[in-house]
Amino acid sequence: MPELPEVETVCRGMRDELLGKKVVSLWKSDKNLRFPFNIEEASGIIGQKITHIKRRAKYIIIGFKNKNSLIIHLGMTGQISFEKENLNIKKHDHFYIEFFDKFYMKFHDVRRFGFVIYDQTANIYKHRLLKDLAPEPLTEDFNSEYLFTLLKSSNKAIKEAIMNNHIVVGVGNIYASEALFRANIHPEIKAKNITRHQIDKLVISIKDVLQEAIYAGGSSINDYVKSNGELGYFQLNFNVYNRENLPCKICENKIIKIKQAGRSSYFCPSCQKY
Ligand SMILES: [Zn+2]
Repeated sequence: MPELPEVETVCRGMRDELLGKKVVSLWKSDKNLRFPFNIEEASGIIGQKITHIKRRAKYIIIGFKNKNSLIIHLGMTGQISFEKENLNIKKHDHFYIEFFDKFYMKFHDVRRFGFVIYDQTANIYKHRLLKDLAPEPLTEDFNSEYLFTLLKSSNKAIKEAIMNNHIVVGVGNIYASEALFRANIHPEIKAKNITRHQIDKLVISIKDVLQEAIYAGGSSINDYVKSNGELGYFQLNFNVYNRENLPCKICENKIIKIKQAGRSSYFCPSCQKY
């Protein structure tokens, strides 16, 4: 599943390709994505130029000159790709936008948990999907004081807490595991028992691990566009994620895998003491 850094990279790739382009037509397949998309209703964006493309949590927001928007979510397997001249519709392509000069942006999604939504709300951040989202991890709103205040009475395990979209958005399973390792925090410790000093370290670790993944992805934007939008995890050197029974890169103890709230957590029992 694409996490925040992957979505951010897709968003940057889209910005490079699409800003200023004018919509000629829209197409959808006969299969619905997570939410149905009504082509006629969305005809408001035909003839409109794209003025901005932004990311909020894992939503990609395409803004048009007339203040209409599209919200795209990649779901589990969604991919964005671009084609010039000869449009080639393949199996699992569910949506495309045609721009002037036969330029196309395609949405491909094998499992169809992703979606494209059209909206006319002038302030898209008031949209029901966006209005209640917690702060972005890479902004100043997500800081140690904020996190400490929210967690000091939480009985939830710290890993579940930082993956909760009402606390901070976009910290998925992979990056939560990696950030906790860097901050030397055991994923099962109750959030309220984490010290202020550990919270300081955790906030920095979350920002660093996401920033590094975005950086790793950013350098592959051109490849990603050329290779028709294949979206893989960036070549981040994971310390714990998916490394069960492999030696910890710091202390050489074996990395352990446990289940927490239905998700796999990976940690080093000696670097991350309970
Ligand atoms: Zn270790």
